[in-house]
Formats: sequence, structure tokens, C-alpha cells
Amino acid sequence: MRVRSRLWIVPVLAALVAVVAALPALSQPAAEPAGTTSVAVRPGRGAPPRPEATGVVLAVHGGAGTALRREDTGARTEKAYRDGLAGALRAGQKVLRDGGGSVAAVEAAVRVLEDDPLFNAGRGAVFTEDAGHELDASVMRGSDQAAGAVAGVRHVRNPVSAARLVMERTPHVLLAGQGADDFAVRNGLPAVTQDYFWTQARWDSLMEAKGHSGGGRTPAMGAKAVGEAAMGTVGAVAVDRGRDLAAATSTGGMTNKMAGRVGDSPVVGAGTYAKNGTVAASATGHGEVFLRGAATATISHLMEFGGRDVASAAREVVHERLAALGGTGGVIALDPQGVLAAPYSSEGMLYGYLTAGGEVVTKVFPGE
Ligand code: ASP
Repeated sequence: MRVRSRLWIVPVLAALVAVVAALPALSQPAAEPAGTTSVAVRPGRGAPPRPEATGVVLAVHGGAGTALRREDTGARTEKAYRDGLAGALRAGQKVLRDGGGSVAAVEAAVRVLEDDPLFNAGRGAVFTEDAGHELDASVMRGSDQAAGAVAGVRHVRNPVSAARLVMERTPHVLLAGQGADDFAVRNGLPAVTQDYFWTQARWDSLMEAKGHSGGGRTPAMGAKAVGEAAMGTVGAVAVDRGRDLAAATSTGGMTNKMAGRVGDSPVVGAGTYAKNGTVAASATGHGEVFLRGAATATISHLMEFGGRDVASAAREVVHERLAALGGTGGVIALDPQGVLAAPYSSEGMLYGYLTAGGEVVTKVFPGE
């Protein structure tokens, strides 16, 4: 009897707990429903970082570095970059719509950017110090953390496809140089001669970098080439219907790099990372620093072991950890719920995303 007479306290306590739990929510903006997008916000020190967008199924980047400036970018140039990013997103969208997985989607998106001479990957790749092209690419599958990569390839038209073949058809993760070129050809990928990758713009950048560094190689590839690297490395991240994550990155590297230099892009945990339950991430920027900072793996670890959300983990890596090592650049990082972070510390970063509802958004100007 006594027990029953005190039962009134149960609903009262429950009501109290509910009120206390609701208090923090009252002082915060309402969460956005999946499928909507939010404008990029680059919070100041101390402010909680907000994601770039929610409801995202696929995102791409076209590199970080010197920015396209609104004031001196013509309508045609702006359109060309936006079309390039949107074309990549549409290619990945088709794969996902047809029931393809996230790995196939990121490969399809990156291939489009590799074929576009505006971007520093595949056709349009930057030049090495000896006026050649050496390409790096990687892909990673979040479901089992399988990965494949190629480094320093000189004749593969689409290095990201070679990376996928390394993942799927070899017991290895990373093939480099001649062996990687031969592997790609043996597995049916189209081979090209070096002149396929040539563009006037990249040639001019090489000349500028060499002029800046006195006409020869300097230990740091020329201050201009490193500090003000032109944009163009490409990458993609995706989540499919099964919530499987994947990421891919492809690049020509950095203008005037030493022959044989390998950056972060083909290195799992540096330029590319995907792990179901945490994040799919692709990086762009000063590769040596992204390697030293294990950039993309650190985002995943901060989420997995530190309980951080994707926006705060990605922001910390780009704006604090890599900045402390002296490097600039950016990442696109997508969590399994479709929350996208796209922080960058460089002047600009080209990127875009596709929502589950089919909306395509491209960002080519800083702070856009
Ligand atoms: N991270 C690339 C590299 O160092 C370059 C870039 O993203 O622009 O090879």
C-alpha cells in the first residue's frame, strides 16, 4: 500500500527530466531536416563549427589553393568550373541512382574531373621539375577499409580506375611507377602518352615556378609552387543506400615537384580515408603536411575515439593540427548520415555536393 501511494512521484520525475533535457535545445537553432542544405559558415575561434550541408550523398572537390576571385573571374571561366564539378556529381548520381555502390560513385565522379583539363588530375595535371607528369590516386571502401592506390604513374589516362583495380584485383594497397603503369595496361585501362596530359595553363605555371625559384629546382619546389599552389587536385566522397562510405582522390601533385615525389593523395589516411560509421574524407593542399599530419585518418579517429562530429573533427584537423604543422588546404568529409564538412585554410577550395533529393550545389568562390 505504501509503495503504491508514492507512485505519483514517477510521472513527476519523468516530467522534470524531460524539461531539463529540453533546456539546451531551446537555446540552439533547430537541426535541419535531412535533404536541406545550409550556407557555408566559417566560424571564428571558439564558435562551434557547423556542417557545410546535410542530406548529402556525394561530394566532390576540385582542389584547394589560390582562389578564383569574383572580381576577376569571367562568366565563362566561372561556368566552366561549375560545370566541371556538376558534371562529376551527375556522373556519380547516375551510378547511385542505378543502384551502384559508393565506390563506383566516387570513381565515376573522379574520372570526369580527371578528364577535364581544368583540374590538376589526369588531363590537365601539373608538371614535374623535369617537365613530365607523374600522377597519384587512391580509393578506399568504408565497409571493410579495403584500399587501392597508384603513385607516380605516367601513362594511365584515369589513375583513379587503376587505384580501384589495385584494390579489387591485387593483394596490395599501393603500386608505384612503371609497375603500376604496366598493371593498369594489363588490366585493360587505356594508356596515353605524356603529351595527353599537357595544358598551356600548367606549362605556364611551371615556367612561373621555375622563374620564381631562379630557373632550377629548389629544395622546397620553389616557394611559389608550394605556398600558392594552383588548385586542381580532385576528390570525391559518397554514401550509398546501404550507408557504405567511400572516398577517392586523384592528382598530378604539385607544380615543379621533384621527379619521384609522392604526395598525400595516394596515401591512405593522409589524402584519402573511408571507414563505415565515421567518415569518408578526401584532402587537398600541401601534401607533405597532410602526410605528416595523417590528415584524413585523424578526422576519423577524432570521431571514433573522441566522440566528435564530422564538422568539428574536420575543422580541428584543417585549421589547428595541419596549420600548426605549417600547411594549408582543405578536405571534404562526409559522415554516414549525410552530414558534409568542407573546411579549408587556403584562400579557396573548389567543391560541390549532391543531396539525396537531387539538388546539385557548387562552390567556386571563397566564402560562397
Ligand atoms: N595534395 C596534393 C599533393 O600534395 C596537391 C593538392 O592537393 O593540390 O600532391
